Amino acid sequence: MATVEQHLPETHNGVTSAGEGIPVENPATGEIIATVGDLGAEAVAELARRARIAQPGWEAYGFDGRARIMRRAQKWLLDNAEQVISTIVSETGKTYEDAEFAEIAYAANAFGFWAKEAGNYLADERIKSAQILLKGKKLILRYRPLGVIGVIGPWNYPLTNSFGDCIPALMAGNSVILKPSEVTPLTSLLLAEGLAECGLPRDVFQVATGAGGTGAALIENVDMIMFTGSTRTGRKVAEEAGKRLIPSSLELGGKDPMIVLSDADLERAANLAVYYSMQNAGQTCISIERVYVEEPVYDEFVAKVSEKVRGLRVGKPEGPGSVEIGAITFPPQIDKISEHVDDAVQKGARVLTGGQRAPGTGRFYEPTVLVDVDHTMKIMTDETFGPTLPIMKVSDSEEAVRLANESPYGLGASVFTRDTNRGEAIARRLQAGAANVNDALVNYTALELPMGGAKASGLGSRHAAGGIRKYCSQQAIVVTPRLALKREAHMFPYKARNTRIIARLFKFMYGRGKRD
Ligand code: NDP
Repeated sequence: MATVEQHLPETHNGVTSAGEGIPVENPATGEIIATVGDLGAEAVAELARRARIAQPGWEAYGFDGRARIMRRAQKWLLDNAEQVISTIVSETGKTYEDAEFAEIAYAANAFGFWAKEAGNYLADERIKSAQILLKGKKLILRYRPLGVIGVIGPWNYPLTNSFGDCIPALMAGNSVILKPSEVTPLTSLLLAEGLAECGLPRDVFQVATGAGGTGAALIENVDMIMFTGSTRTGRKVAEEAGKRLIPSSLELGGKDPMIVLSDADLERAANLAVYYSMQNAGQTCISIERVYVEEPVYDEFVAKVSEKVRGLRVGKPEGPGSVEIGAITFPPQIDKISEHVDDAVQKGARVLTGGQRAPGTGRFYEPTVLVDVDHTMKIMTDETFGPTLPIMKVSDSEEAVRLANESPYGLGASVFTRDTNRGEAIARRLQAGAANVNDALVNYTALELPMGGAKASGLGSRHAAGGIRKYCSQQAIVVTPRLALKREAHMFPYKARNTRIIARLFKFMYGRGKRD
């Protein structure tokens, strides 16, 4: 059994030798590959104390100083990509390509993006006010780092989802404590080592390994919490943050619909339906989870999708090009996938391919296509988070839009049609934080666009201006010039003449002209 002690900078006390703490399993083999510490409340408070001491020095680096370290980290990531990929693959069981395309590529882009844009998004803004009392004064909107940010991450993307949110938080001048999922802590520990090698000052970024209780302790000690995970836990996190009156930003579950209209490019629609429902074995918050197809093209679309899914290889990833569908990372998840498929079958759905756990060691589920589905089935209403694709026939686009919106979730959505104007009009009617026309998921790669959920899919967003400003408090600064009046007209003592003049002024400013 290997431990990951070699990955740890001195300050990271999360890893213990084998036999203590939390064992980390390779879901593709069942082998225990490391053991990490389960940090209790006192240890988390100590990390927060250190983070608070380190933060002012890090803020004093300024945007350029911080960007220099993030650019070094970008290079470090690519220089060490093989080690990072093998760490991700070993703790998640995902394929080499899922680690490379959706994790390394994301983080490499994000280091550069935030290094370049943080200073622009957080630059002081000179504000002009129409308020006459403020004429001649200097008005500034300023963004100030909040202090210590807690990031709680899930197991599906240990680099993109857990670590990715730390980059803008750091670039804003905060210290960060990351609590990765107990199932996938190793990537975060490795990245901590990478940042230390790149010159990040001690205690500015720390990893608090542990289970849910460690996350709860983190909320008790930080100035803001960024959470990605289930809606159920997200509600708890928001409640606890609310009790402390600290801000929280939540990226939660999804049940993303895809709509295929009868004029769509069916070959493209089928390829994207298969890829974006099954990449990362379907364990993506913005996976396509359900499809609505207009009646005239339904049979052809189903035939294309089924044939493509039958050709997918499932199993232990053995390097590039070995399999398309990797393991199910989180142990209870495979039962949830089975439960959704079984529930659908009991209620009348037909399985065209897959429909069960894949045989052999490791935790795998066969890529599955279901038809004759409806909204009485969990597979169409609850987040499945597996390599499943239920396809439902609809009479027209109106029915598709109604069913797409008939969900407590609202993370992503997509619509396929050759009439892009019509596609855009439909996209605007979908109750989702992001809607793609003739594509899916790609909005996530545009760090210039906000990524956040509607309805029960979350609060707040990552990426773009809002994705870094949330790690700051706003401060309004008003500077009155040196040669100001000794006393201004509205001040004591009140005099009837002054009051009348001011009233006339208000009338002139706000009461002129006719109104409808
Ligand atoms: P959770 O929401 O329970 O876990 C997410 C993170 O929160 C983990 O780091 C977890 O720690 C931590 N956590 C758990 N309890 C608390 C708490 N009380 N206070 C603070 N932090 C806490 O997700 P699961 O991993 O259990 O997955 C459940 C479902 O969530 C999946 O089936 C899937 O549907 C959905 N999901 C959605 C994701 C998304 O990207 N939106 C990502 C992952 C899952 P620990 O893991 O140690 O318990």
